[in-house]
Parts: sequence; C-alpha cells; structure tokens
Amino acid sequence: MTISELGITRPPGPSSSSEPTLRPATRMRAWLAVLGLGAAAVWLGYVGLQALVAAGDLSSALAAARDHSAGPVLIVFVSVVLVAERLWPAVPRPLVARAHLVDAAYFGIFAVMVLPLLTLVQTGLGVEVEAHARFLLLSHLSMVPQLVVIATILVGIDAMNWAAHVANHRSLALWRLHALHHSQEDMSVLTTFRTHPLVHASYLPALLPVLVLGAGGTVPGAALIVYACLVTLPHANLRWAFGPLGRIVVSPAYHRLHHIAVPIDSRGSVNFGFVLVCWDQLAHRAIFPTNAAPCPTGILGRPVPLEQGAARRAVPQVVLAQLAQPFRLHAATDVSS
Ligand SMILES: [Zn+2]
Ligand SMILES: [Zn+2]
Repeated sequence: MTISELGITRPPGPSSSSEPTLRPATRMRAWLAVLGLGAAAVWLGYVGLQALVAAGDLSSALAAARDHSAGPVLIVFVSVVLVAERLWPAVPRPLVARAHLVDAAYFGIFAVMVLPLLTLVQTGLGVEVEAHARFLLLSHLSMVPQLVVIATILVGIDAMNWAAHVANHRSLALWRLHALHHSQEDMSVLTTFRTHPLVHASYLPALLPVLVLGAGGTVPGAALIVYACLVTLPHANLRWAFGPLGRIVVSPAYHRLHHIAVPIDSRGSVNFGFVLVCWDQLAHRAIFPTNAAPCPTGILGRPVPLEQGAARRAVPQVVLAQLAQPFRLHAATDVSS
C-alpha cells in the first residue's frame, strides 16, 4: 500500500477550523474516562504493592523491571543509536536540540518514577486476574516445548501492544494521553520515552499473554531486554528501512510514517506496529517507506504544549504543561475522527 493509495493529501499547516466540534457530553465522557483509568491504575498499584510487600519481593521486582526496561543494556543501546543519529541523521538536528532535552527528561521520569509504579500496577493486575479470572491461566502446557511457549508469549505481547496502540488512536480519552508522544516534531530515539505516565495503563492488555501462558515458561530477562531495544529503535532519527527485513520488523523509516504530521485522519492511521509489521499488514494499515525525503512529524495545529513553540518556557514547565493537559475538561487534543 502506498501513501497516495491511502489518500494522504492534506498539506501541513494549522489544524483545520472545519473540524467538527465535539458535544460537551462527549468531552465530559473522555475526561471521566481518563480519571477512571487513573483511578484503576492507582487501585491496581495499591494491590500490587500489598502483594509484593507481603511476599518480600518488592525490591527484586523493581530491580528486574529496571533491568528489562531502563537498565544498562538499554542505556548503552540508546547511546549507540544517538551516535548513529549524529552520523546518519534522517533530518539534521543541533547536537543538543531542545526537543532532545525534553525527551531526555521523559526518559528520566520513566526510569525513576513511571517504571516502579508500572511494576506495581502490573503486579496488581496479575493478582486480580489470578483472584477473579483464574480460568484464563493455562496450566497444562507441559507437552509444548518451552521455547515455543516463550516465543508465543513475545509475539502475543507484540500483538496486544499493537491492539492497544490502535485503541490509543481510536478512543478520544486515550488519544488525550497518546497525543503527547505524537507531538514531537524533532524525533530521536529518546522520543520512545515521551509518553504520558498514565498511557501505560492502556497497554496493560500486553501483560495477558504473560499471565495466560506464564505457567508454560517464564520469559527470560534477555528476551525482554531485546524486545525493549527493538521497540526503542524505530523512533531514531535515521532513514534506515532495514531492506527486505523491513517487511517483517518495524524500522525507523516505517515508524516515522506513523508519526507523519499529515495523517489520513486527525489521529493518524497507519503503521501501528511495535516490533512486527504483520499486524498492520493483516489490518491493511501498513505503508512501507520509499526513498522520498523523511516526512515531517508532529500534530497539525500543535494541540499539545510544545518545546518548539514561540513561548520559550523552561523544560520542567513544558513537561508539566504536557502532563497536565489530559486532565483538563477541555483538552485541545479532543477532535472527532
Ligand atoms: Zn501512535
Ligand atoms: Zn512512536
């Protein structure tokens, strides 16, 4: 499928004033849904904290999560990609671009605050599933080789991440949280971490393959670290399309089209894949990159407070404004699709 086949014709520019206005009740529902998601996350986090403290596993669980998602391997990987971006940038950027500082701040927030809280929330979900939906947990997998179970879990995680990502674009409430990630106009590998903390709650379904098949084999930490690196690389400011491998694995050039500033609808509709491209192909939502110049990224009309805006606010001020936006009754990201 090509861009022209999908009808991407709207030129870059300010958000169209002809966007249909939302009914107040619709906005209210989106706002309440964001608050509800936050309340559910707090509850699951509390349940998870209780369970880990009772089992004496709190520190080991937090250490494992840090190693898998923000540990030394990932930091070295991101550093190497940052060097590659200096050598072969898709779009040349200053060495210390303001966008990079903001996205680096999000990495710090993720590593120090979000990851520990997410660990509690994920543990809480596991506790609740075990208590109330035990029928979901398969325990008779001894006939299946462990390697097959582990591979199935990883593919299942990727499928659920894809589905949750689509929901982030289709749901008005979830788009309030996901828009921050898409607001970046100067993408780099650090943009991976430019996410609202609460958006991680929308990706909790990705835990289900682990819970459902977990009795058949625990996914080795090394596999989770490799998965985290593969999720991070597509945001790099590189033109890499991976050649024939790019038809299987998400490349920076492929994911850049997901962040295109001129989407086919107001929330972007192609290339949702995290690591595997097959989910987009099955849903006819895959566009493969060509040799054309890298597309501009961001959101038309800049509905999210930006570091690139005319007002030169300090980085902490920008981040706080971005984090607060989804909780406003009238969020500028609210547009009908
Ligand atoms: Zn997206
Ligand atoms: Zn992205």
